[in-house]
Amino acid sequence: MCYRRLKTKFSIVEECISTRSKNVEDFCFFCCQPVHFCYYITVSKQYRAIICKINVPDGWNNFFLAAQDIFNTFVSWFVENSKSKKFPNTYDAEKILRPQIKNKYPGFNTGLIQAIADMATEAFKSTRGKKPSKKDNSCIRYDERTIKILKNGKTLTFAWMGPRKNTQQIIKIPQWFNLRYPQRRLANAYIGYSAHHKSWVVNLNFEIPEVNSIHYFNNEIEGIDLGVHQLATTDSGEMFSSSKLRAAQRRSLYVTRELQRKGTPSAKRKLKARSGRQRRLTKDINHCISKKIVSNPNKKCFVLENLVKGAPGFSRKSNKILGSWAFRELQTFIEYKARSLGKTVVFVEPHYTSQMCNQCCHISGDNRKKSKFECVECGHQDHADINAARNIKEKYTNPTKSEQPIQAAFSKWRSQEELKKSKKKARQAESHSAQCEVPENSQSFQDVQEDMNSTICKLSNR
Ligand SMILES: [Zn+2]
Repeated sequence: MCYRRLKTKFSIVEECISTRSKNVEDFCFFCCQPVHFCYYITVSKQYRAIICKINVPDGWNNFFLAAQDIFNTFVSWFVENSKSKKFPNTYDAEKILRPQIKNKYPGFNTGLIQAIADMATEAFKSTRGKKPSKKDNSCIRYDERTIKILKNGKTLTFAWMGPRKNTQQIIKIPQWFNLRYPQRRLANAYIGYSAHHKSWVVNLNFEIPEVNSIHYFNNEIEGIDLGVHQLATTDSGEMFSSSKLRAAQRRSLYVTRELQRKGTPSAKRKLKARSGRQRRLTKDINHCISKKIVSNPNKKCFVLENLVKGAPGFSRKSNKILGSWAFRELQTFIEYKARSLGKTVVFVEPHYTSQMCNQCCHISGDNRKKSKFECVECGHQDHADINAARNIKEKYTNPTKSEQPIQAAFSKWRSQEELKKSKKKARQAESHSAQCEVPENSQSFQDVQEDMNSTICKLSNR
């Protein structure tokens, strides 16, 4: 599809979205049927990464170490020595770096020099030229020009520093990866030493073509509420409990504490072996939940809360919970898995989704008692998380319904905050004035000074 045609389609869809916000019945521009939302065609790229072991023969170790060293020293050298320039581009960086590297290592691959230049400019931009960001054991980068997988799908060939220009390696790409992503293109790769695998590994990044969807009907859209006790709840009533995860967390905390208390060498070994275990379990559970949610064939669009840490309306306690749980990870998993199936993920503002009644839109903290929801206004009863998931969905499909009550609740919250602030200021002013007042029976400043002078005289006489 040509870019211009795509652009005109974009403008049509933008129009379509604007009519939706004005509360006009929506009709799809492509099929002329009433729909809740027309989704524009996405042009962004998707990537999938996979790690493969490299069986290093003798002598290769030194090559990799040397290449790593060259990468790190020249990236650091560039960041340190180009302080005067504001943001160098890769072309300028290569111009500076190429003679430097070629003088020292005449056989060094030109494509790898380009990769060093890319990495150096990126490092410069990320640290703003303050300090080099490369660690000693960071990876060697390969791009399309320096790494390739041959047509048999097993042989990896990449640039080499020695007399041979390229070298070949047999790698094992798992069968499931081949089946799931038959149309893929190798975009770039990183080679480095993995302490987890105890060998040299290559991290292959593939570009995946994206499937696009056009529009969704109301029953194809699903609202999802994320929480602490129920990790995810859908508006149709499906729940994913966190009891297994929380039990594992408690157990792991207990074992870690006991091992730390023992402090023997074997206990330290065990601690090291257990490190990262909790992280991996959380990741696995998030993968399972997201896969189950996304693979529902009847649902094509998923609505999630835009959970931003430190947003207004969140208490300090809930912000702490948001930070400690891997909510964002679950969201990203749902997002990328949905996109790979041609489905869509949209985000809505999270305010008052758990306190608002789904039937009458009354907002109150009293509506909710732990997992039970009972509206104080209309008496509507439901599970609190399902009610929240329905609110999340309606925030997207019918945003005008809850607009007014949320604005009223916001203004109420703001006035309460202002009242709190003014009270705090008054209290501070009171305490300040109390400190400034001098008690009657205390010594005056002159008395204290005289006392000090006399003691100094006594000390000097001794
Ligand atoms: Zn109600």
